Amino acid sequence: MHPDLEKLIVLQQLDVEAKRLRDEMVALPKRVAELEAKTKAVVGQRAVVLDLIAKEEVLRRRQESDVKDHQAKISRVRKQLDQATTTVQVTAFEHEIGFAQVEVSRLEDAELESMERTEALESQKAIADEAVEDATKTLERERLRASETIALDKKALAEVDQKRAALRPEIGESALSNYDRIAKGKGTGLAEALNQKCMACQMMLRPQRWNDLRDRSNDEDIMTCESCGRLLYYDPARDAPQRKTVPVESIAASIIRSL
Ligand SMILES: [Zn+2]
Repeated sequence: MHPDLEKLIVLQQLDVEAKRLRDEMVALPKRVAELEAKTKAVVGQRAVVLDLIAKEEVLRRRQESDVKDHQAKISRVRKQLDQATTTVQVTAFEHEIGFAQVEVSRLEDAELESMERTEALESQKAIADEAVEDATKTLERERLRASETIALDKKALAEVDQKRAALRPEIGESALSNYDRIAKGKGTGLAEALNQKCMACQMMLRPQRWNDLRDRSNDEDIMTCESCGRLLYYDPARDAPQRKTVPVESIAASIIRSL
C-alpha cells in the first residue's frame, strides 16, 4: 500500500471523529432547547387549566352569594307579605318571591354545572401535573447529560485535533491536498474498496483497476474511484471473498469422534 494512503486512512478516521464530536456539540444544546420549549409548553397548558379552575371557583362564590341575597330577599318579602293589606300588594309580593325562587333554582343548577366542569378540569390538571413533572425531569436529566457529554467531547476533540496536526505534515503534499479537496466537496476523501466495489458510492471497479488496487506491490500512485473521485484503499483483511469456508475435520479428529 502507498505509505501516504496508510496515513490518510488514519487521518480520515480522525477527521470523521472530529466531525462527529463537533456535530454532537451542536446537536446537544439544540436538543436541550427543544426540551425547554416542550417543558414551557406543558407548564403553559397547566396554567390554562389552573386559571379555568380558579375562574370556576370565583363563579361559584358569586353564585352562592347571589343565592344568599335571593334567599334573604325571599324571607324579607315573606314578612312584608304577612303584613300585606291589599290583593294588589299580595300579588306583587308573591310575584317577587316566585321570581327570587326561580333565580335561586337557576343559580343552584348553574353551580352544579360549574362543579361538574371543575371535576373535569381537576382530571385535566392531574394529567397536566404529570406532564410537567415528566418534562421537567427529562429536561434536567438531558441538560446534565448534555453538559457532561459536551465537556467530554471538547476534551476528545482537542486530542483528535492534536493527532491530526501531528499526522498531516507526515503525509505527502499532493496526496494530502487531493484528500482535502475531495473531503471538502464530498464529506470524505477516502473510500475503501471491498468486493470490487467503492464503498462510498457503491460503484463497481473495472477488473483491471480492482486487480491493480489489490496488487500490493503497486506503491507508485494512489488510485481514485472513477465514479466519485475518492482515493481508494484496499484492506485484504477486510475483503471477504464470496466463498464459504466449510470446516474440514481432520481424519484423526473424526476417528476420535467415532470411537
Ligand atoms: Zn466511489
